[in-house]
Amino acid sequence: MSIRDQFPILNQTVYGKPLVYFDNAATTQKPQSVIDTLCHYYTSLNSNIHRGAHHLAVQATEAYEETRREVQAFINARHAHEIVFTRGTTESINLVASSFGQQYLHPGDEVIVSAMEHHSNIVPWQLACQRQGATLRTIPFSDQGILDLQAFQNLLNEHTRIVAVNHVSNTLGTVNPIVDIVNIAHSHGVPVLVDGAQSISHMVVDVQALGCDFYCFSGHKMYAPMGIGVLYGREELLDTLPPYQGGGEMIKDVTFERTTYNELPFRFEAGTPSVGDVLGLHAAIDFMRETGIDTIAAHEKDLTDYATMKMEEIEGLRIIGTAPHKTSVISFLVGNAHPYDVGTLLDKLGIAVRTGHHCTQPIMDRYGIPGTVRASFAIYNTREEVDTFIAALRRIVPMLM
Ligand code: PMP
Repeated sequence: MSIRDQFPILNQTVYGKPLVYFDNAATTQKPQSVIDTLCHYYTSLNSNIHRGAHHLAVQATEAYEETRREVQAFINARHAHEIVFTRGTTESINLVASSFGQQYLHPGDEVIVSAMEHHSNIVPWQLACQRQGATLRTIPFSDQGILDLQAFQNLLNEHTRIVAVNHVSNTLGTVNPIVDIVNIAHSHGVPVLVDGAQSISHMVVDVQALGCDFYCFSGHKMYAPMGIGVLYGREELLDTLPPYQGGGEMIKDVTFERTTYNELPFRFEAGTPSVGDVLGLHAAIDFMRETGIDTIAAHEKDLTDYATMKMEEIEGLRIIGTAPHKTSVISFLVGNAHPYDVGTLLDKLGIAVRTGHHCTQPIMDRYGIPGTVRASFAIYNTREEVDTFIAALRRIVPMLM
């Protein structure tokens, strides 16, 4: 079966036009194998894990723990217990901001994030800083959308406790130099959290090669179901953090006087997890491996280069985020038109894009714009769809100028 045929949702019309789904940075569609895995789980395997002595519970537990090992291999973590299942990137970052903050942030300390972060990698740190009396500092970026590493070096000092940056910006598409950032931070003894929400489906991620201390991502942006995500934490650091949520599974012994906590990774997985979605994540990793991450990256680069070239030919259209090293995200504006108007007109032609601030308001403030229109590509998109998109833009742009 062709890659595209594995995604049944794409085979539909919107307002009588074939659907062109270019909102992949928000969430990707799911291949049949992922959908079938969910169906199989609830048809044949559903059971609560870790606690049951019966056949179904044992099978579900094995499948759940097998996925943990699959994720470990997928991102080349040293140990399976460095993989914590969460609801998504947002929860992964909140977990670290909360637990790390409680353990390591004190009045007068500083946390560094970049100025191109998603709100999920800003607000949890603001909350942690407010609670602990620490200060949030930001790494600026250039007009092209490139982080200023000199400014970053200047921000680091003896008060810095952690650096949190995204691997890829969901608005600008910039691929950030994580190895350099980690090396600079580590030379000051400061750990680094990487928000991998926008990188995990586009490139090989090797957490040991990156050298980062935490890596966070969401299943739903990498062909897996919604509601499942991953926190990778380097054992030596993760093991020093206090629990995030209390409840079942995360404990060793509970009395009213005193509770002792479970070992990694269970200490951070309170309550019943979304087992079916974890198995769906396994199927999504299988899909990405079978397709080939290099094949995915090359195809998306081709679409991005092609679309960028065609868009640059359209007068009145301006691309926001022009770093040389980008993933398949193209943010743009048409004259002074509001992004929402562009998005609505494209929608009427069957083309799904995202409009607005993309949960990155500080980026919009940096450029002095209200938002952008964002087209983002995945493995199942085609050059023909890009042609449809370009033809639509050529119709729309004169109407808005
Ligand atoms: N960080 C980045 C860079 C993102 O693009 C997103 C999703 N838009 C998130 C974090 C949050 O991911 P989720 O909503 O899946 O938790």
